[in-house]
This record gives sequence, structure tokens and C-alpha cells, in this order.
Amino acid sequence: MDNCLFCKIVRGEIPSTKVYENDKVYAFRDINPQAPTHVLVVPKQHVPSIDGINEMTDSDLAACLRAVREIAAQENLAGGYRVISNCGPDACQSVPHLHFHILGGRKMADQMA
Ligand code: 5GP
Ligand code: ZN
Repeated sequence: MDNCLFCKIVRGEIPSTKVYENDKVYAFRDINPQAPTHVLVVPKQHVPSIDGINEMTDSDLAACLRAVREIAAQENLAGGYRVISNCGPDACQSVPHLHFHILGGRKMADQMA
């Protein structure tokens, strides 16, 4: 996707602070962190949101969650963390490339939204 912000970050055309990378997944620090640790995990394949995951192989999809786990360990989030994927307008998704927010390093609110 030529004009997708996160595709450009994956390709290195827009700078980012890399946290983790393998052949299927790229992860970087959110530009507007909502917690001491706020990492975005994205598949290298362009998929708009969870609504589009049938375009992905199970292996590529699983790689995203396996990366979440790896990053949580790497970032020393032993006390816990929250994983969020906003999907569509009602969830206020602002970048239409599937991503998982990892939020940690502080106690989260006990309400989800
Ligand atoms: P969404 O609202 O779609 O769930 O999350 C998009 C996230 O991308 C937001 O938390 C926002 O701060 C982050 N973001 C937007 N543009 C950039 C950027 O250019 N670089 C980085 N690192 N994060 C970005
Ligand atoms: Zn994209």
C-alpha cells in the first residue's frame, strides 16, 4: 500500500523507534504514548484491521500475538500489560493498517473504555 502510514514505517520511509522485528512483524514505539511503555505491533502485510484478517495466513496472524508476548518480556512488563486493537470508526481506529497496542508500565484503569 503506497500511501499507508504504517506500510511506510515498515519500509523505513518514515522513521520510527524499532522495538522488535522479524520476517512477518514490525513493532515500534507509539509517537503519542499513553503509558510508560506503548508499543505498536503491526504485520508487515497490509491488512486494514481485524475485519481483514481472513486475508492473512494463520501463521502471519499468530506471529503478531507471538511478537506481543516477546515484546512484553523484552520490555520487562512482568506486572502485566494491556493489548488493544481498535477496529473501525466506533473504536476510533485512526490508522487503517492492523495494529496491536501494547500498554504497560503503569496500573491500567479497571474499565475497558
Ligand atoms: P489507532 O487510533 O488507529 O488505534 O492507533 C494509531 C496509533 O498510531 C496512535 O496511538 C498514534 O499515536 C500512533 N501514530 C500515528 N502516527 C504515528 C507515527 O507517525 N509514528 C508513530 N510511531 N506512531 C504513530
Ligand atoms: Zn499498510
